[in-house]
Amino acid sequence: MFDLNNILRENIKKLVPYSSARDEYKGTEGIFLDANENAFGSPLLLEIEGQELNLNRYPDTLQIAVKEKLRKIKGLPIENIFLGNGSDEAIDIIFRAFCNPGKDNVIICPPTYGMYEVSANINDVQCIKVPLLPETFQLNTDAIIKAITENTKLIFICSPNNPTGSEISSDAVKKIIENFNGIVVIDEAYINFASYRTFIPELLNYPNLVILQTLSKAWGLAGLRVGMAFASQPIIDVFNKIKPPYNISIVSQKLVTGALDNIEQVNHWIKVVVAERKQLTEEISKLPFVVHVYPSEASFILVKTIDAKRIYNYLVENQIVIRDRSKVEMCEGCLRITIGTPEENMQVLKKLKEYK
Ligand SMILES: *Cc1c(COP(=O)(O)O)cnc(C)c1O
Repeated sequence: MFDLNNILRENIKKLVPYSSARDEYKGTEGIFLDANENAFGSPLLLEIEGQELNLNRYPDTLQIAVKEKLRKIKGLPIENIFLGNGSDEAIDIIFRAFCNPGKDNVIICPPTYGMYEVSANINDVQCIKVPLLPETFQLNTDAIIKAITENTKLIFICSPNNPTGSEISSDAVKKIIENFNGIVVIDEAYINFASYRTFIPELLNYPNLVILQTLSKAWGLAGLRVGMAFASQPIIDVFNKIKPPYNISIVSQKLVTGALDNIEQVNHWIKVVVAERKQLTEEISKLPFVVHVYPSEASFILVKTIDAKRIYNYLVENQIVIRDRSKVEMCEGCLRITIGTPEENMQVLKKLKEYK
């Protein structure tokens, strides 16, 4: 049985969080001399959508205005939403909540997103690698369950997976969740581009599930650095206790709140990316130096070629920058190409057709 108390670090269980001035007094009217802010103002006047932003004031620690918008879009209560400075901050906080440095371990399934291992290394947590099955890039479920030790705290699953673009079978994911008493993290950074649904509704069934999403990809806000984690309220409460109190700036909060109103624009881009992904997959598959384009549910395609390094250099010479993944295990010969605008994709295809 999963019990949050069994897997939290002792120091985190005992942690008395930093109490900010704004935690103690919630009103918006008054003379605020409680946080040592500059009462005069800031040397920069910033207006967003006709409203002046008080940069001299600390931001809302719990980002309630942003979460109110996300609540409607994601269909889950704000108590189940955590916001981080990119999902990379959420990943780091997950490590710090559950993994004792030098003692605990986590399971990752390469080829996958690099930050899980980097975060593990930073936190001095061992990474047990159970590779995806070759070519299909699906979970090796039995091997994962066998690899679990009494010190395994987290299992990371990225779906759609980066850099393969593959959907991870939801039955396999459920099997892992049901056979593990630690936390399963599903990274859904690319879920907006997928033909299948988010795991969010499963939060009601699984108390050991954490789902990561981000505003950096489909939402086009990579520069703002805002990522989301969705989980049970007790888990979200722990994350909020650990995070730096003012981790999302007042500028980011304001801009995100506005951006979240433009969902039609985002949905339109998603449709274009999905259509372009299909077309680019077909066209690139026909090129003589391409072995295979893997089916993708994400905003990029993974292309297996006969000479990745040379093709990569050729494109760079033509001022087209893609990602060489050929050194990654199971991705030998592979290039990862982000789906651009239709004009950009046309340029890439044109240059690739000219490649000799
Ligand atoms: C891009 C990406 C992220 C997003 O990170 P942010 O810190 O939110 O920008 C997370 N996971 C995966 C798999 C990604 O590819």
